[in-house]
Amino acid sequence: MSDAFRNGGLPFECTRCSDCCRHEPGLVLLSRSDIRRLLGALGLDFRGFYAKYCRVVSLGGGTGLSLRETERFDCIFWKNGCSVYDARPVQCRTYPFWPGVADSREDWIRESRRCPGIGRGPVRSRSEIEEALWEYRRNAPLLLGPGEAPESLDEDTILGG
Ligand code: SF4
Ligand code: SF4
Repeated sequence: MSDAFRNGGLPFECTRCSDCCRHEPGLVLLSRSDIRRLLGALGLDFRGFYAKYCRVVSLGGGTGLSLRETERFDCIFWKNGCSVYDARPVQCRTYPFWPGVADSREDWIRESRRCPGIGRGPVRSRSEIEEALWEYRRNAPLLLGPGEAPESLDEDTILGG
């Protein structure tokens, strides 16, 4: 596997088809900074946010938080477009420049079958791609230990004080 294929940049332009927000079960994992940003945008405290918009999912030997989905597997924030666009999670902001997607030509081509924006539009520079990958990596999803239930933790504990 080589990431040299992205040296000259990669073309990507979101067509706003919303396929990555709707129709299929999926995880939108939340980091601490994602939660902080969404709390600010929605004017909620953590308890209120958790009760309305989050679900607990298994993650790396513990549990984490993902956004809820509707019965049709739409993201809870999808309302004819992303209703929290300016505060959307890092996972959404950085796509498709994720490890495992932008790491090799094979990964990139495979992902292009899921996302019509990959391979079209302006070329995103190598530095823009690296910045997105860095942003993705440094905002790891919140990981809760065994037995830690979000509803029993206070906001400072969840958000890291
Ligand atoms: S699947 Fe790709 S083109 Fe469609 S909304 Fe998501 S990022 Fe944009
Ligand atoms: S938060 Fe917004 S961009 Fe992210 S999956 Fe939900 S609707 Fe799509």
